[in-house]
Amino acid sequence: MGSPYAGRFAPSPTGLLHAGSLVAALASWLDARAHGGQWLVRIEDVDTARCVPGADQIILQQLAACDLTSDGPVLWQSQRGEHYAAALQSLVNQGWAYPCGCSRKEIESAQAVARHSAAVYPGTCREGLNGKPARAWRLNVLAVQAALGLPAITHWRDRRLGAQQQNVGQDVGDFVLRRADGLWAYQLAVVVDDAAQCITHVVRGQDLADNTARQIVLQHALGLPTPQYLHTPLVLGTDGEKLSKQNGALALDLSDPLAALGQAAQLLGLPAQPGLHNFLTQAQGSWARLFISRTH
Ligand code: GLU
Repeated sequence: MGSPYAGRFAPSPTGLLHAGSLVAALASWLDARAHGGQWLVRIEDVDTARCVPGADQIILQQLAACDLTSDGPVLWQSQRGEHYAAALQSLVNQGWAYPCGCSRKEIESAQAVARHSAAVYPGTCREGLNGKPARAWRLNVLAVQAALGLPAITHWRDRRLGAQQQNVGQDVGDFVLRRADGLWAYQLAVVVDDAAQCITHVVRGQDLADNTARQIVLQHALGLPTPQYLHTPLVLGTDGEKLSKQNGALALDLSDPLAALGQAAQLLGLPAQPGLHNFLTQAQGSWARLFISRTH
């Protein structure tokens, strides 16, 4: 038998919840309830420069207004630096993480020479810093794959999107674990915390789907289990772009939580129902029919 179901909603308090983030919150909550599992809230406030003071507390209030409350203690990533440091140290000890002295400009010019696309780190510091001071720490993706016998192409199955794959070494390169400004990178923090919270099922927005292969490689490198993944559809703004705090998405109007949840439900293909409690109960069954029975 597998571990008991644990899911999570992991908002970054860089702004308040908006219609897009409520979809991930509702979907992850429904998936947990429909599995009879736990739903945990984690505040992803590692990127302190982008966090808005007080937004974490308001997000928790917004969730509570929708009757979505964490089944266990809320975790704040800003308080978990020692765990991320221990994970990085274990990777360094294996020879799988290395310091990088490249500035953004140097990475761009190396990419141009190697004809790499802008997103790929060309591996400049893999063999040494060449006298440059260390700035960031990166994962040596090929070294991890070679040592653990992992294929170059990471395959995974999304419960909504189906079969997915990515060649992390080629399409992303050695990604950052600790940033040049000393902050912990999202990839490291999310992998360490999903394991620390024993998360078995990740349900989150589709904009994060292309991080999954990197997270799977990192889970292998740290000897951690890989959860199941489901990425939810994105709410688009009037410009056709994904609705986000960055393009000015409005905070949810929680004078009518049921209306806000109804909108989120519609995007997920779930019927609206009168009454907040009734809606949340009925939606569990609809969710299970759409996303659980056909995937098991
Ligand atoms: N903190 C991320 C966000 O708000 C979500 C990360 C995740 O669910 O893995 O976009």
